[in-house]
Amino acid sequence: MALITNAIKGTLDLLPKESAKTQYIESAVREIAENFGFYEMRTPVFEHTELFQRSVGETTDVVQKEMYTFSDKGGRSITLRPEGTAGAARAFLEHGLFNEPLPQKIFYLTSCYRYEKPQAGRLREFHQFGVESFGAATPAADAEIISLAHQVFGYLGVQNLTLEINSIGCPTCRKQFQEALKTYFEAHRETLCETCQSRLSRNPMRILDCKSPICSEVAAGAPKILDYLCDDCRAHFEAVQAYLRAMQIDYTVNPGIVRGLDYYTRTVFEFVSNEIGAQGTVCGGGRYDGLLEELGGKPMAACGFGMGIERLLLLMEAQNTPFPERKACDVYLASMGEKANLEAARLALDLRSEGLSAQFDTFGRGLKAQLKYADKIGALYTAVLGDAELESRKIQLKNMRDGTQSELALDEFTDNFQSIVIRDAMSAFDAPDIGSNALSEILSGGNA
Ligand code: ATP
Ligand code: MG
Repeated sequence: MALITNAIKGTLDLLPKESAKTQYIESAVREIAENFGFYEMRTPVFEHTELFQRSVGETTDVVQKEMYTFSDKGGRSITLRPEGTAGAARAFLEHGLFNEPLPQKIFYLTSCYRYEKPQAGRLREFHQFGVESFGAATPAADAEIISLAHQVFGYLGVQNLTLEINSIGCPTCRKQFQEALKTYFEAHRETLCETCQSRLSRNPMRILDCKSPICSEVAAGAPKILDYLCDDCRAHFEAVQAYLRAMQIDYTVNPGIVRGLDYYTRTVFEFVSNEIGAQGTVCGGGRYDGLLEELGGKPMAACGFGMGIERLLLLMEAQNTPFPERKACDVYLASMGEKANLEAARLALDLRSEGLSAQFDTFGRGLKAQLKYADKIGALYTAVLGDAELESRKIQLKNMRDGTQSELALDEFTDNFQSIVIRDAMSAFDAPDIGSNALSEILSGGNA
């Protein structure tokens, strides 16, 4: 049978076997974000095109080459979000969140769309975990978001990431720097790639971000922004570093980091790995004090980052980072006969309402085939229900790991089975100071 079509190039299907890993990362970042006081914001997958033109910037690769833009049936120009900050900033302004206590700290877990050349770590649909701290102008805010990303990597057990930081100054001090850059790159015009030649007059800083090896070589000798910072920007950058040192977060200053989006001011940073090929930036972010005003709001400082979930996953897999196992089937209820089938369905529902994972036959297998299936899906226990069990109101529970059997009263099955699951969970923790008396006390509800 020929499929009528395949998935679009640069997109990934996450099958149930693989989604557990992503879910684990997602629940970790949610929990950490909330510990830092960041709460989730969800915005639409598409926005008016001009939002990204204005915020990401007309001269960026994202806006010039990578956006999924189309006209809807009403003739509006619509774009699938290429990143998360613009939508979050729009929503922040539209809903007047600037009237709430500041800073407003939000996070998002969202899909992003960029028409890029698909390769390892570079997709057309990818996912970002991002945070934004709106209204926070102090160096402490920059350091806080950096420490959040740092804690995510630490929690997940990711190793060998380097944190590279830089300051790209404010519009005032950047002007002189850009003049100096222009003069320098003008002298190397012929060597630069075609794209960079056109960047030269419009936004020479973009050349520093070019991935072509020849341009990178030229860029290595370019003037350094750090030599052009004004006093305020320099003091801010030094204070960010003081916070990082106080939090014992290692970093290196890399004057080559300018970030791909136009809205950044002052602090920019990346967490980089050299273990996943050319696409080594797992997280990038910084300060964007001009963005909210650019979008029509009052001037207000802000900073944030975006972390690529697929790149993080690639890195964790490359490092063989352990992932927790997916929740197993606690019990498979095999049944035979019309009445027993109904009883199995009822019992499964009851177990599930107590938070246990229970399964029964919905495929129409015979008893033997059901037990084989239970084994295949790794059920921890099985129980067989037939006419005899309904008659005696007793049921045999088989532990599939050691083969032992025990008899449980059918009418108290859920309660009794729950105690068994709790007992198993406790014995899995090697806890020598919990004696058997204490254990039976817990199992019996505390009155033993
Ligand atoms: P790069 O330099 O790799 O192109 P970028 O500067 O375009 O990255 P940002 O816009 O800062 O990236 O996005 C933040 C993070 O999102 C990146 O650090 C990366 O982890 C991830 N990311 C960006 N583009 C892609 C993509 N096409 N596929 C997968 N992940 C991506
Ligand atoms: Mg990019």
